[in-house]
Amino acid sequence: MNPPAPELTLDPADWTELRTLGHRMLDDLFDYLMHVRERPVWQPMPGAARARLAEPVPRTPQPLAAVYEQFARDVLPYPLGNIHPRFWGWVIGTGTPQGMLADMLAAGMNTQAAGVQEAGRHVEEQTLAWLAELLGFPRGSSGLFVSGGSMANLVALAVARQAKAGFAVRDTGLHGSPAPLTVYASTEVHSSVRKAVELMGIGTANLKLIPVDREYRIVVPELAAAIARDRAAGARPIAVVGTAGTVNTGATDDLAALAAVCRQEGLWFHVDGAFGALVALAPELKPILAGLEQADSVAFDLHKWGYLPFEVGCTLVRHPDVHRDTFAVAPSYLGATARGPAAGGVLFADLGVQLSRGFRALKVWMALKTHGTDLIGRLIAQNVAQARYLADLVDRHPRLERLAPAPLNIVCFRFVVPGQDDAALNALNQEILWRIQETGVALPSHTMLGGRFAIRVAITNHRSRREDFAALVQAVMDVGTAVLEGR
Ligand SMILES: *Cc1c(COP(=O)(O)O)cnc(C)c1O
Repeated sequence: MNPPAPELTLDPADWTELRTLGHRMLDDLFDYLMHVRERPVWQPMPGAARARLAEPVPRTPQPLAAVYEQFARDVLPYPLGNIHPRFWGWVIGTGTPQGMLADMLAAGMNTQAAGVQEAGRHVEEQTLAWLAELLGFPRGSSGLFVSGGSMANLVALAVARQAKAGFAVRDTGLHGSPAPLTVYASTEVHSSVRKAVELMGIGTANLKLIPVDREYRIVVPELAAAIARDRAAGARPIAVVGTAGTVNTGATDDLAALAAVCRQEGLWFHVDGAFGALVALAPELKPILAGLEQADSVAFDLHKWGYLPFEVGCTLVRHPDVHRDTFAVAPSYLGATARGPAAGGVLFADLGVQLSRGFRALKVWMALKTHGTDLIGRLIAQNVAQARYLADLVDRHPRLERLAPAPLNIVCFRFVVPGQDDAALNALNQEILWRIQETGVALPSHTMLGGRFAIRVAITNHRSRREDFAALVQAVMDVGTAVLEGR
């Protein structure tokens, strides 16, 4: 009888070879990060590189070194550019070299962070406790790292629904609802809140969007009136979503006033602080968030203004019991045991949607320890000062017009030409923006404010310097002049 063939494995036949290649990858990435400033922010992926991706299903192995060559040639040079010092599009974080290493360590451990008895659970619990303290949430609040702000909002709003529905929503779904549930937010609320409300079966029609004032903050008396109107019409209001840092202009609602309305009306108060909540780390800015510490829940990202690599967001909930009641399920194969790794059950799986989860907490824990929260707060304040600097450059420039207040890290402006109407200026500024993006000199994005096309600069970038913003203003002037001259 022949001896059985050796079993297969995905471990390398030659660890030494893999080690050498792995070290090269690491060195290449350090070079890539060190020299990011010298490259264009963005450039489109060339057709040839895209064509090389269109391979048939790879049924047989190719050497890792060859696959890595393709990555280095065809993928690595063509990112969106958000690690670049002059990237200010949407709200997208920069990442850090230290975070890259932390993600590597987490991937090496390959922790399945459902929350059983392993060290990662304790790292996550400790890190969440630090964040709760920094944001002014009470000791004993519960929390969860999730993929990002969108998931963090969904988790928090699910807890709100559980807390305030007034019927057994987990059993019956909204079929058991005696009245339509309604949720309130300003017209500036992020689209992820709408997604969450839709996914929960509440429906967009029951997400009541309240007008904002000239500072893009929710008009609180209008909120109170809408709640009263809806109650009179037979609806059951359950929650108000305040925003700390709107995506359009960086506005923060009057969170203390919203907390008061919620207290009076018996509603859940959730804060979407995707980027704004971390302002809590900067003492001089923290007053903007007054009232956040009264929220029932808060959602925020570490991959935006925490500067960490994707993905990591966080939900904190003031009421750990309701949080658990929203998600906990105990099939026999997940049941807690008296001893061993399953003792205590699956802590984090019982607080959110995911069962299997990555060890996102590791990079947060390492970042808070290695940078210190004071430095992160100083970087956040630095970004706000840079926004002010840019706003000043715009305000002092006769050919530039600011289109919204810039209370935080977002500046919206346009190039103006005397005598041109909004329609002409919209087309002109769109062209200016495209050219700036396509030449790779900088990467702002855009938004529409009151029918006007704004070049929008959102700064969550620890690599930007003041001169980068001066360079942007110069580029807008150069490109604007060129377009006007038909070049
Ligand atoms: C980015 C953002 C979100 C969504 O967060 P993701 O991490 O992209 O899922 C939600 N709300 C606001 C205000 C945001 O800026």
